[in-house]
Amino acid sequence: MSTETHGIVGAVRTVVDAALEAGRARTNGGKAIDEHQVHAERLAYAATEVAAAEALAAYAAERSDATSERMAAAFAGEIASKLRSSIETHWDDFGLEPALLASTLGHPDVVRAMRAAQHESRLREIGAEVLRTRGANNGFIDGDMAEMARDSARQFARKEVSPIAERIHRHDELVPESILRAMAELGYFGMSVPEAYGGQGMGNLVMIVITEELSTASLASAGSLITRPEILTKALCKGGTEAQKQRWLPPVAAGELMVGISVTEPDTGSDVASVRCRAERGEQGGTPGWFISGAKAWCTFAGRANVLALLARTNPDLALGAKGLSLFVVPKDAFPGHDFEMRQPGGGTMHGKADATPGYRGMHSFTLTFDRYFVPADHLIGEAAGEGKGFALQMQGFAAGRLQTGGRACGVAQAALETTATYTSERKQFGRPIGDFQLTQYKLGRMATHLAAARQFTYAAARAMDADESVSLEPSMAKLFACDVAVWVTQEGQLLHGGWGYAEEFAISRYVVDAQVLPIFEGVKPILELKVIARGLLGRS
Ligand SMILES: Cc1cc2nc3c(=O)[nH]c(=O)nc-3n(C[C@H](O)[C@H](O)[C@H](O)COP(=O)(O)OP(=O)(O)OC[C@H]3O[C@@H](n4cnc5c(N)ncnc54)[C@H](O)[C@@H]3O)c2cc1C
Repeated sequence: MSTETHGIVGAVRTVVDAALEAGRARTNGGKAIDEHQVHAERLAYAATEVAAAEALAAYAAERSDATSERMAAAFAGEIASKLRSSIETHWDDFGLEPALLASTLGHPDVVRAMRAAQHESRLREIGAEVLRTRGANNGFIDGDMAEMARDSARQFARKEVSPIAERIHRHDELVPESILRAMAELGYFGMSVPEAYGGQGMGNLVMIVITEELSTASLASAGSLITRPEILTKALCKGGTEAQKQRWLPPVAAGELMVGISVTEPDTGSDVASVRCRAERGEQGGTPGWFISGAKAWCTFAGRANVLALLARTNPDLALGAKGLSLFVVPKDAFPGHDFEMRQPGGGTMHGKADATPGYRGMHSFTLTFDRYFVPADHLIGEAAGEGKGFALQMQGFAAGRLQTGGRACGVAQAALETTATYTSERKQFGRPIGDFQLTQYKLGRMATHLAAARQFTYAAARAMDADESVSLEPSMAKLFACDVAVWVTQEGQLLHGGWGYAEEFAISRYVVDAQVLPIFEGVKPILELKVIARGLLGRS
């Protein structure tokens, strides 16, 4: 790590740690976050940014090429300036000693380093490199398997997905079966399924790298297809019985069973513990099981899916909250359109109607209504032992989903960077390619720098999860940061396209609307910040 980056990152880390310590005292060890939401959000974001800066700095130290070093320093400098300004504005909330600030972010050496690191000439140099390489992502990934996986996923995504991505988006089509089949053959639906159950057991880093490449081609008709089986796989691995793992994991891994995740309801989103959809114990044709009744919302891919992982209330006592919830594997027929009705021989029904959305098209997201829809007892994950454990299992699945969404976000941002680098190299105004202008280069430099931080942070979170499956803070932080980067980078890219960035035939307009959904699902941004990250950080001693 360059001494410049080292000095800045070290100073930010010291200040963030002290601010978190003060935050713990202020929120009574995280118990009173709701009385200090605004500051808790600030702390969660600052801690996330410093972790991203550390990940990028570690990468740059390993590579020690000029562009990586410049990026690491510039990003560290930017978050340091932001933090310093935030502390000065919200001095009483941070509750830091003036001496601490003076010896860190206010120290003359650190201030000098922050200024130098963010000098526009450095960012313009990064931008010039982005233009030269057309934004290509050829960064080093440690591990031969990950690098091979990236190459083959890139080849597949560019050859098979990219040519149809625009059509699917503009005509709101369902992802074609040919893509599902090809992804199944490549083993993409079983990346996290253990080999003993027919999966690839590839681990999280490889999964992220593949997700990124698929999402660069299309968020909804490639990159996001893997998220649903990932979530169900993690829940089954954690809480399923041996018989359930043997029954469901092999066909999920083989891509024979497409999966939907059904947690959200029309009146229940972030407050997952308040889910109301009911599952009542009963019996049909001599088979003991559960009758599901109620409404669900935003169930992506629910039409085409063959099974839904559905969170329902098995204990009617609402006061039990999360403890009354169980997770089910709910089989259904596959339907191709925007609405469907499924009737069981015993009379149970499931209706689905897709909600129109500006982006994230290709899988359709459905509002569902269940009326005494029957599932046998062994479809409750964990069976008798899993009753009341659905919330915890779902959260385990979400942690994996969030990590994957970090990869999805990097993929969308990568697509925006590449197309913008190409466009600004070719588009001429005032007699020159717009990429020749200083401001364009500066903007491209910042876009690439933030994307590099998001990518290295997501990879670091994947490695952390490979080492310990139960980590949830790192994937949540990576998701938070990478999704914001995707939103910002796509919008910057759109501006650099001028009016053509608003035209549907330019892919950047799709990237913008696709990116906007990323901070919404798997914990909408404020909830992720407060209920997962701030709680995780401030609850720690
Ligand atoms: C395209 C798309 C696809 C989706 N796919 C799926 C899917 O496949 N399966 C699934 O189950 N769900 C899915 N979702 C749903 C998604 O996970 C939810 O939208 C998300 O969890 C937020 O819930 P909500 O929409 O009910 O928002 P709400 O919970 O109503 O939150 C709205 C806002 O209220 C504020 N807020 C709420 N509570 C608090 C609080 N305690 N403190 C401070 N502020 C608060 C925040 O600003 C928050 O952003 C999808 C959503 C979309 C848009």
